[in-house]
Amino acid sequence: MNKPRRLFLKQAAAAGAAFLLRPGITLGRPHSHMVNDMTLRFYPYTLELKHTFTIATSSRTTTPTMMVEVEKDGIIGYGEASMPPYLGESQDTARAFLSKVDLTKEDDPFILEQILADVDRIAPGNPAAKAAVDIALHDWIGKKLGSPWYRIWGLDPAKAPVTSFTIGIDTKEVVRQKVKEADVYKVLKVKLGRENDKEMIETIREVTDKPIRVDVNQGWNDRSFALSMIEWLATKNIEFVEQPMPKEQVDDIAWLRDKSPLPLVGDESVQRLADVHKAYGVFDGINVKLMKCTGMREAYKMITLARGLDMKVMLGCMTETSCAISAAAQLSPMVDWADLDGAVLIKNDMFRGATIEDGKVTLSPAPGIGAVKA
Ligand code: MG
Repeated sequence: MNKPRRLFLKQAAAAGAAFLLRPGITLGRPHSHMVNDMTLRFYPYTLELKHTFTIATSSRTTTPTMMVEVEKDGIIGYGEASMPPYLGESQDTARAFLSKVDLTKEDDPFILEQILADVDRIAPGNPAAKAAVDIALHDWIGKKLGSPWYRIWGLDPAKAPVTSFTIGIDTKEVVRQKVKEADVYKVLKVKLGRENDKEMIETIREVTDKPIRVDVNQGWNDRSFALSMIEWLATKNIEFVEQPMPKEQVDDIAWLRDKSPLPLVGDESVQRLADVHKAYGVFDGINVKLMKCTGMREAYKMITLARGLDMKVMLGCMTETSCAISAAAQLSPMVDWADLDGAVLIKNDMFRGATIEDGKVTLSPAPGIGAVKA
C-alpha cells in the first residue's frame, strides 16, 4: 500500500467514514457506486494481406494478431499485437502472456511508467503482446482526457512526414503493378537481399524516378559486396539503406557506415531502448516500431534518446490494422522518415484512424490513439 493511501485510510478511519474502502478506489473520493476495476480482454484476429509478402528471409499471405481491449469507467481502450511469424511471437504466446496481465491490481491507470514496468517484468520477450497492452492503456488515458496523444505530447500533426509504400521481392510484372498501385505515395520502400536486387531496382526505375528507401533485412553477408551494392544504389536516387547486414556483424556494419555514400538505418539491430546507444556509431539512424519496443511509451523514449545522439529516426510498422498504425502515427511528427503503410497492405482492417492522404501520414483528431472500430 502506498503512503498517501495509508494516510487516507488512517484519516478515513479517524473520521469514521462510512463508505466502503477497497483496492482500486479513487483516493479522496467517496466510492459509493459499483466497484470499477480496469479489465483486460483479448482475442485472436488474422490479417489477410492483399499480396503475398516476400522479404529476404520469408514469404507469407496472412499475419496473426491479438486484439486487446481495456475497459474502465465505461471507456474502452484498444490495442493490438501484430506478430509476423519470423519474429517468434504467436497467438499462443500472446494468449499465455496476456493471461498473466492483471490490471485490476493497478489503482491508477494514469501511472503508466509503473504499470508498464510491471507488465514488462511478467516475462522477458513478448514485445508485441506488451505493445498491445501499452497501446490500449494509452488509448484509454487519451479518451479519459479527451485528447489524442500527439496533443498530450505537444506535437504538431502538420509535421507528420510522408510515408513510404513497401514493395516486396517479386517478379517484374508484380513489381510494376505494385508501383502503379503506389501512385499516391511520394516514396517507395523496396525489399532487397535476394539474388535479384539490381533487377528489382532497375524494374522500378523503368516506371518511376520517385525516391526509394532500400531494406535489405540483413540479407548481405559480405561487407565488400554490401559496399559495392550501396555504391551502385547511390546512383539510383536512393534515400537510405536499412539493415544491410546481419545484426551480429556489428563491426562490419560500422566499417560499412564509414565508407557508405548513403545513410544506414538499423532495424533488426535496434529492438528496445537499450539498443539505441549500441547503434550509435554503427548506424546513422534507427527504425522504431511499436511491436519491437513494447509500445508507445518506450518508442517515445527511443526517439528522444536517438535525437539526443543526433541520429535520424524512422518510424516503422508490421502489417497491422489501423489500431496499431494510428498509435504509431501519434509519434510521427517527431521522426524524419515514416513507413506506416501496414494497414494499407491488408484486406480486413477493422479500425478507422490515421490515414495516408496524398502520401502523408494524416492524424485523426479523435482522442486516445485516434482509432475507432469500423
Ligand atoms: Mg526493416
